[in-house]
Amino acid sequence: MKKNLSYNLDTPVQYLKGIGPMRAARLGRLGIGTIQDLLYLIPRRYIDYSRLVKIGDIKVKDEVTISGKIAGVQSRRTRRGVPVTMLAVTDGTGVLSVRWFNRPDLKRQFKTNELVVLSGVVSYYAGKQLVNPSYEIVSTDDSGGALYAGAVIPVYPLTEGLNIWELRRAIRFAYEKVGSLLIESLPDYLLKQNELLPVRDAIYQLHFPDRIEAGMTARRRLVYEELFLFELLLALRRKQILAQLRGFAMTDHKDLTRRFLEHLAFELTGCQQRVIDEIRQDMASSHIMNRLLQGDVGSGKTVVALYAMLIAVENGFQAALMAPTEILAEQHYSFYSDRLNALGITNALLTGSTKKRLYDEIVLGVKTGRVRIVFGTHALIESTVEFYNLGLAVVDEQHRFGVAQRARFANKGITPDLLVMTATPIPRTLSMTIYGDLDISSLDEKPPGRKPIVTKVVRSREQAAVFGFVRDKIRAGHQAFVVYPVIEESERLELKSATAAHREMQQTFVDCRVGLIHGRMSSQDRVRVMEEFRQGLIDILVSTTVIEVGVDIPNAIIMAIEHPERFGLAQLHQLRGRVGRGAAESYCFLLLDRMISDAAYERLSYFEKTDDGFCLAEKDLQLRGPGELLGHRQHGLPDFKYADLIDDIDLLKRARDDAFDLVKNDPTLAGPEHQALRTLVKTRHQDRMELLGIG
Ligand code: ADP
Ligand code: MG
Repeated sequence: MKKNLSYNLDTPVQYLKGIGPMRAARLGRLGIGTIQDLLYLIPRRYIDYSRLVKIGDIKVKDEVTISGKIAGVQSRRTRRGVPVTMLAVTDGTGVLSVRWFNRPDLKRQFKTNELVVLSGVVSYYAGKQLVNPSYEIVSTDDSGGALYAGAVIPVYPLTEGLNIWELRRAIRFAYEKVGSLLIESLPDYLLKQNELLPVRDAIYQLHFPDRIEAGMTARRRLVYEELFLFELLLALRRKQILAQLRGFAMTDHKDLTRRFLEHLAFELTGCQQRVIDEIRQDMASSHIMNRLLQGDVGSGKTVVALYAMLIAVENGFQAALMAPTEILAEQHYSFYSDRLNALGITNALLTGSTKKRLYDEIVLGVKTGRVRIVFGTHALIESTVEFYNLGLAVVDEQHRFGVAQRARFANKGITPDLLVMTATPIPRTLSMTIYGDLDISSLDEKPPGRKPIVTKVVRSREQAAVFGFVRDKIRAGHQAFVVYPVIEESERLELKSATAAHREMQQTFVDCRVGLIHGRMSSQDRVRVMEEFRQGLIDILVSTTVIEVGVDIPNAIIMAIEHPERFGLAQLHQLRGRVGRGAAESYCFLLLDRMISDAAYERLSYFEKTDDGFCLAEKDLQLRGPGELLGHRQHGLPDFKYADLIDDIDLLKRARDDAFDLVKNDPTLAGPEHQALRTLVKTRHQDRMELLGIG
């Protein structure tokens, strides 16, 4: 370490006493680079050692926290094959037996003589025991004499090789050196109004609280700060959009749009009509449109989007629709291309798989304005794609894209209108705060004649009967999907399981034509298989989740899902939404072939009796947290470091109101009490601001 180094908040952690390059690298894995990052590291939880109970004193049914040394680790299976990990823990006053069911991974984590802290309810089974308690491995060495000093100890997310005591020492040292340099970014009146600690107190209490409550109060301040800054950016963006005027308005001349509707096989529903009116008004105004269209799967969003795109074209502008998967982009294109050609509108499809020559031709057509409507994937937002005069950008299945991608698309034109669509996987409680910069339209009724989809959890012994039923439906001329979950990281595995499933299905359904589609096929093959399925040349389509969103084949009335327990509720709902798109009764079968946990079974039962996408999304959020909402990390929700979108929802609402009020009262953050915020927004969030399209 350099001798007379003067520390500041941006000093890399490796220069802290006791850290050095090795430990700094480990901290780097937690996203900690600077001293400031370290001070802002939020503990996962606190352990209150003053409330520890001695093993010798515990009673059955008490909820206790105990601490002790691991005397032994063991794992085995119950007679029914459920894995059990067992610990014997001792603190000198007695030995406690501890077990976890279904957590075979735990065995590797525990080592004899390590110190653990366990919390749970004491039960009795051949002696007192804790079953499935929460646990914390405190240390491998005994240097933690302080453990029993009756203090509150924060537990940090640790990476291997960095223990709690080293981290605590480093944080204390950092705070002594630079704590006084921490800058308060929140104006005083917001601290008062929300009863928040000033930043220096908060950081101190976060790491060195005398009671757990003090630590929680500190955490609350930091969570608020994070949410507030996010909402402030949204509010600024919103204000900027509202202020953005352009010299033209797009009016619905009812020429193209009328002819388009005449050629549709159905009438618009009342709510489609209402939403179209809302969009039409937006487009006719000289402000730019920034609208979210939400509607459950199958509610008929696409045709609304097409209507809006025609208004743009009719007014001499181009329109583009971006979908998250090639299959979906291809579907939109194949469904609407001929209809648009019939109206004399040149249109094209642009995806990552578009062949070079065609790609160049389309990009040129888009640039010169020859192509009026373009469908596509992320390929549309690449820098090589320039528009002649993009007037409307539509994002389908918006939750699959990030805020930044949405913004990049909207920046493709000079000031295009923006319409983003989603099948509402974001619960109501969140959508307002997360999509705070958008106006919202809802399609809350489905096209007429749709029957609820019969949903059933199928145990393995019932499977034969269900397959017989499927066979009958296929003989009657209908089609079915069979979907397999795949582990995203492993494409090879995906291929293997889908191919194996395909073979299996061919054997089960010998007299049917069974097709296969998956993400690793070439785009031509995928288009061909989808087309064959669409035309009824394939009866059963075995698929990975590539068909999860948007696919629309009304004659397919059966959705069978293998290993449904591996999907989130919102994702299951999307899959189920692939059927029930025509007049015939549709079915969704969840095929179980092994024992699943009670919790998983409960989740599937809930799905069985619930067909409202909102409710399912709420439930998913509760059960699995926002990160898992869609089973992937592609939910379009921002990644908060501190805030938990379930537990902190009230704080989120406050932060939102405060941020929007602030921008309303002081749109340029010019007030003296907002200077710190202004600097913060300008410096630290510069890149984010640009992505969000805020100048
Ligand atoms: P989503 O909202 O899930 O994107 P789609 O736009 O794919 O739904 O529409 C689902 C199906 O409903 C499509 O086959 C579409 O042609 C059909 N559809 C849309 N609007 C109506 C309507 N008003 N009446 C009957 N069918 C409709
Ligand atoms: Mg759709």
